[in-house]
Amino acid sequence: MDTSAATVVVWRPLMTPSSSARSGEDLRRRVLAFVRKATPFAYCDACLALRLECSLAEMAAALADLADGDAVLARARRSCYGCGRTLEISALRDGPPR
Ligand SMILES: [Zn+2]
Repeated sequence: MDTSAATVVVWRPLMTPSSSARSGEDLRRRVLAFVRKATPFAYCDACLALRLECSLAEMAAALADLADGDAVLARARRSCYGCGRTLEISALRDGPPR
């Protein structure tokens, strides 16, 4: 019996991890600089995305990394200085860094 080679499915990753990690790192740095400058005011994800000219999905990923990885930011329910909505936004953690 002859098995057809056409039935073999090749899965390709949609994104190369290296390139997306590099642009993500750049965005995280810009987010952090912006948040530090804006403190004590805080902006919601959408306002941050608008001001830093990236997509909301990219901003959400960058903020998740910053609140999780090196834990510079913390998520808290606050009012946004940009649009005035009260929702969960990212701000610098309280207290001086040690
Ligand atoms: Zn906002």
